[in-house]
This record gives sequence, structure tokens and C-alpha cells, in this order.
Amino acid sequence: MKINLAKSAGFCFGVRRAITITLKTTAQHKDVRMLGDIVHNEDVIAMMEKNGVKKIRTLRKNRGQTLVIRAHGSSASVFRRARALGYCIVDATCPMVKEIHKMARQMESEGRRIIIIGDKKHDEVRGIKGQLKTKAFIVPSAGAALRLPFRRIKKAGVVIQSTQDEENARGILRTISSRVPDLKFFNTICAPTRVKQTEIKAIPLKNDAVIIIGSRASANTRRLFEIAKKLNPRAYWVQRAGDIRPRWLKGISSIGITTGASTPDATTQEVIARIRTLCA
Ligand code: SF4
Repeated sequence: MKINLAKSAGFCFGVRRAITITLKTTAQHKDVRMLGDIVHNEDVIAMMEKNGVKKIRTLRKNRGQTLVIRAHGSSASVFRRARALGYCIVDATCPMVKEIHKMARQMESEGRRIIIIGDKKHDEVRGIKGQLKTKAFIVPSAGAALRLPFRRIKKAGVVIQSTQDEENARGILRTISSRVPDLKFFNTICAPTRVKQTEIKAIPLKNDAVIIIGSRASANTRRLFEIAKKLNPRAYWVQRAGDIRPRWLKGISSIGITTGASTPDATTQEVIARIRTLCA
């Protein structure tokens, strides 16, 4: 069995940075908290908890706890509330997400309605929306774009959630740009996502089967899986080695592997070892 691991497999820059910042923080501060998941991967969260980082669901009045802001960023109100409640804030927001915040705020200050191409419930999208004074429109699909109240939108600014599928985003943008007279647009899909998406468009065609490794909570992993599945019906999404079914490997001679942006290398190596064991 030939196992072809994507060059871009593993943590993206922003996730690696957030993990490093959080671990450094635990070495320097006693009571470290993360609001929700610092990244979307259960193994990473477990590792953080083992290192003393406690996950909290809501902010509470406290004396000097340290709050790490996740890689996907948070809304301005979370920062304000956390400060008012006495947290010491360590911001692990990915710089590329910060850049999206800046662009959205800048376009808003030009009097534009902000449109975010992305998933309504995703932390990053909520964080972008929460940077603005005016209400942003969130558009996950071309169908949703058609339902925008275009009569009220004469001047708009568009940003994209960093891990969106480029083709989907371009389709949405075409719909919006044909209906909004004054439109400014920034393609804010980040470089690591682009590389992963370019690779996943080739891997399923070059291999008999494909395995995508990542948490069910990871939107970018879902996206990679969806792209792979369209190109190769033998595409499978696993969270860990134990999820692999021996029948997936029957009658194939090559398997391509990639991972979501928050999948640890250790999980990938366990998956590879299990494939080798099953094929031995
Ligand atoms: S996917 Fe891109 S924007 Fe998101 S954390 Fe990783 S590098 Fe940053």
C-alpha cells in the first residue's frame, strides 16, 4: 500500500501559534482559562487541560485569572467584558484573522454594509461580526446570497471566513457583485487554507482512496472532506486511527492522507501506523 501524506498536513500557522502561546502562558500564569475551545480538536483541548488550562463556557467575575483568546478570535464585546471582570487577557487570535477584523472595520468606517461569506455559527465569523458597530450579513451559500435585501444595500464590503472553499466563495461573490452597485471585496481565505485546498483537489485523483483526519467540530476538515468526496467516492473522514474500517483498504494500492488545520501530527502518525498494520 502506498501512503501519500499531503505536504500541508498538520497544524496551520495560526493553530500552532495559538497552542504555543497558550502553553507559554501556563508556564507564566497560574489560573489560565480558555473560553470555549482554543482550537477545534479534542486531542489538543485534552492536552491543554492536562497542562492546566481550564475551559470555561461563560465569563465570570474573578481575581486575576488569565484568559487566552482562541485562534479564531472573539468579538470586541468579549474583550471588553473580560477586562471589566478582571481577567488578564492573552490574545492568541491568528494574525490572519486579526487582518480580517481590520479590513471589515475599515470598510464599515467607509459607510459600507459588511457581508461575511462564511458559516453563521462558526467562532471566526461570530468574532468578525462582533468587531462591527453595524449589523453584518452572513452568507454561507449562493442561495443565501440571493436572499440578501439588495434594495437596502447600495454600498457593501465583503470579507471571507479564512477557511472557506474558494470556489463556493467566488460563486457567492458573483451573485453579490451583480446586485450591489458599490462593492469592495477582500479575498481573506488564508494562505494555509489555500494550500490545503489545492492539494485536496489533486490527492483524490491520484490515489485509490483518501483519508481526511480531523475533528467533527472542525469546519475546515469538513470542507476538505466535501471536496475530496466529490472527486473520489472512496474518501473517508476519521477523527483518529480507531475509526478506520478494514474494508476501506480492500482492493486499493494507494491512499492519500490529509488533515484539518488543527489535527496534531501524533494523530496522523497513529492513522498511518494503523493503515500499515491493517495492510500487513
Ligand atoms: S486556518 Fe488560517 S486564519 Fe485560521 S488559524 Fe489557521 S492560518 Fe489562521
